[in-house]
Amino acid sequence: MLIDGYGRRINYIRVSVTERCNFRCQYCMPEKPFSWVPKENLLSFEELFLFLKVGIDEGVDKIRITGGEPLLRADLDKFIKMINDYKEGLDIAITTNGYLLKETAKRLKDAGLKRLNISLDSLKPEVAYKIAQKDVLKNVLEGIDEALKVGLKIKINSVPLKGINDDEIVDLLEYSKKRGMQIRYIEYMENIHANQDIKGLYGKEIVDKIREKYKVKKAGREGSSPAFMYELEDGYRFGIIDPHKHDFCESCNRIRLTAEGHIIPCLYFDEAMSIAEAVKKGDVEAASEVLREVLKNKPEKNRWDENPPGDEISARAFYQTGG
Ligand code: SAM
Ligand code: SF4
Repeated sequence: MLIDGYGRRINYIRVSVTERCNFRCQYCMPEKPFSWVPKENLLSFEELFLFLKVGIDEGVDKIRITGGEPLLRADLDKFIKMINDYKEGLDIAITTNGYLLKETAKRLKDAGLKRLNISLDSLKPEVAYKIAQKDVLKNVLEGIDEALKVGLKIKINSVPLKGINDDEIVDLLEYSKKRGMQIRYIEYMENIHANQDIKGLYGKEIVDKIREKYKVKKAGREGSSPAFMYELEDGYRFGIIDPHKHDFCESCNRIRLTAEGHIIPCLYFDEAMSIAEAVKKGDVEAASEVLREVLKNKPEKNRWDENPPGDEISARAFYQTGG
């Protein structure tokens, strides 16, 4: 079993399979980074899988594949199948911008994928364009329809931004509700890679906008999820992910693995240790040792609440850590 220095059980690995992306979201990667990790430094699916097996053998039962944009990586379905075939009952999910989903959803489902989180910030083509800096909406909506059609369960992730898409909070909720998808609004997390002119909304401001139309009651947290859940009168639940509070750090059950093999113990911090050398040599023991060292040093909580505007902010790039 994997236990960190604060006694928290780790049963969840988020693995980023690429830092590259076909969008340039204002809050994540508004400009193409100065340099990408060279392709030869990316771990192969076999190497990533070797590390995942170390985790699974130690009780990890939840794996999320993310990026950058994970669907850009060829043969992702084969990676899903490798994991799915290793042990029955694993909860395998992907976080994607949905752009390439129309052509990949069926293959992913057939490989054993059950769940997807899809980022959707607007239902207006021009606003979606403004955020992603590309004409994306039609493909994303068609991708969502196809994924639902093949039987994948979907959660929608949405980042409300002041003066950009904050008038669509209710529309996005209604769009998701109508299709049986849970929506989770993510507070914008300040970081040095984002467009520094954008401002997010606090969780309370987001809920207040929904309260203008619906009666909303608090439903609390579900398991180790970072989302705080709310419920409408008809029982539909939506979530708010609010890193500016860190009551969810107490029950944090996750670590992150980047596409080049860095294990990141907390989304906020820069510290990481590499398993690249170990997995390239096929050395399971060495990979396991690095993992234990990382867990020993996993911080107690993030530091987003200590960042008044203009102060030092996180240097961690979401497109590297996978969010
Ligand atoms: N490309 C995929 C996508 O967009 O869903 C997966 C990777 S993306 C980094 C994962 C999640 O991080 C997305 O839901 C995105 O909205 C979120 N994200 C990225 N930058 C963020 C920021 N600065 N604040 C809050 N959420 C952010
Ligand atoms: Fe790409 Fe996802 Fe980052 Fe947007 S949030 S730039 S889709 S990695």
